[in-house]
Amino acid sequence: MYDVIVIGGGPTGSHVARRLAEKDCKVLVFERKAEVGGKDCCTGIISQECVNSFDIDSRVILRELNTATLFSPSGNMLRLYRKEPQAAVIDRYAFDTSMAERAKKAGAEYHFNSRITDISVAGDRAIVNVSGKGKSHQVTAKAVVVASGFNPGFNERAGLGASKDYVVGTQAEVETPVLEEIEVYFGDMAPGFFGWLVPTAQGMGRAGLLSRMEPGARLKKWLHLLAERGKIASADVKLSYGGIPLKPPLHTYGERMIAVGDAAGQVKPTTGGGIYFGLLAADIAAAILYQALADNDLSAKRLASYERAWRKKLGRELRIGYWARKLFERMSEKQIDRIFEIIKSSGIDEALLKAKDISFDWHSRAITSLLKYQMITRTLKLIKLPFRSISIDR
Ligand SMILES: Cc1cc2nc3c(=O)[nH]c(=O)nc-3n(C[C@H](O)[C@H](O)[C@H](O)COP(=O)(O)OP(=O)(O)OC[C@H]3O[C@@H](n4cnc5c(N)ncnc54)[C@H](O)[C@@H]3O)c2cc1C
Repeated sequence: MYDVIVIGGGPTGSHVARRLAEKDCKVLVFERKAEVGGKDCCTGIISQECVNSFDIDSRVILRELNTATLFSPSGNMLRLYRKEPQAAVIDRYAFDTSMAERAKKAGAEYHFNSRITDISVAGDRAIVNVSGKGKSHQVTAKAVVVASGFNPGFNERAGLGASKDYVVGTQAEVETPVLEEIEVYFGDMAPGFFGWLVPTAQGMGRAGLLSRMEPGARLKKWLHLLAERGKIASADVKLSYGGIPLKPPLHTYGERMIAVGDAAGQVKPTTGGGIYFGLLAADIAAAILYQALADNDLSAKRLASYERAWRKKLGRELRIGYWARKLFERMSEKQIDRIFEIIKSSGIDEALLKAKDISFDWHSRAITSLLKYQMITRTLKLIKLPFRSISIDR
């Protein structure tokens, strides 16, 4: 019998598999696709902190970035610049493959074309139903890790409950003759969210947006506008789509089961970026599961410590990020423009950059710092904050 079955060969699934296999656990990863790295709908921006923390293979990095320019709805610009690289754009296919190769090297086994349709628990084992190539069979293990990405139906069937809020992201590979840095756009192309243009390899980039309604139609319209302005060569491109959880499901653990990554809603609600938080949680998941296996206690009560541990690390970010996201969705274009004006004219951007309050991953510090400025809270008509604006524990 396997010690652990991992459902999903994405980055978080492969990372948990690797960490457990490194400790001599017998691990089997099931991936529904024919190979890893099939996620084409991801911009692939990760922070330098993520690159360093997880020793990301430099061969998967397409480009390093140290500047981002934000555009308000009326075209007002805010340029955030640091001398050192702040983020990297990765090739998702190469990245997922490299994470899986590391897991395999540590001893994890991969089965492809294998969709898990059901998980059950009987006595001292978890049983998964594997379906592929017109056949189905069952495989057992002591525990299961759900790393199947954004998949609310699957989460519900596994007893985790669906994500309570989500958004759809859509993206296209575009020719970008003049793009050199990340550009983020706020306005009617993506109400309540944002659009982005990100350079990848020479002359190419990714354009995308997040939206609760008609993401595809909105992106098409915006691409035409970008083509007219000469930002991209053509709007005649293929769109891809993906769901992004904005909140975790009801539980991220159960009897002989834990969930990681998008399946556990470990995603920045501000931007929808999930790779780094997913990997951080994968480390926690592997450590707790390893100890629970050693103690032969894989009860839901014991595995609840996983949810407590990852929330200790990421909970405040998710809570404040989600609060900021909901506030932003309620803001008018006029209010967004006004905030841009205040930040620029008062030099708040420079102050935040200098105080190291602006971080690529940890947004709660920037949010709470911004809310210390009365001009901003007045514009937002905020009277009381649902959290203390000082003492930010990560
Ligand atoms: C438009 C868009 C842009 C994004 N840009 C960024 C970005 O720039 N930076 C960032 O950090 N994040 C970004 N994200 C989010 C990022 O893609 C996810 O957070 C990340 O992929 C989560 O990794 P994961 O391993 O949890 O899930 P996934 O990468 O989704 O992997 C899950 C795997 O499980 C497999 N699977 C699913 N169901 C089953 C099943 N039943 N049986 C077997 N296998 C199964 C899938 O085929 C897949 O391989 C973006 C998302 C979108 C939609």
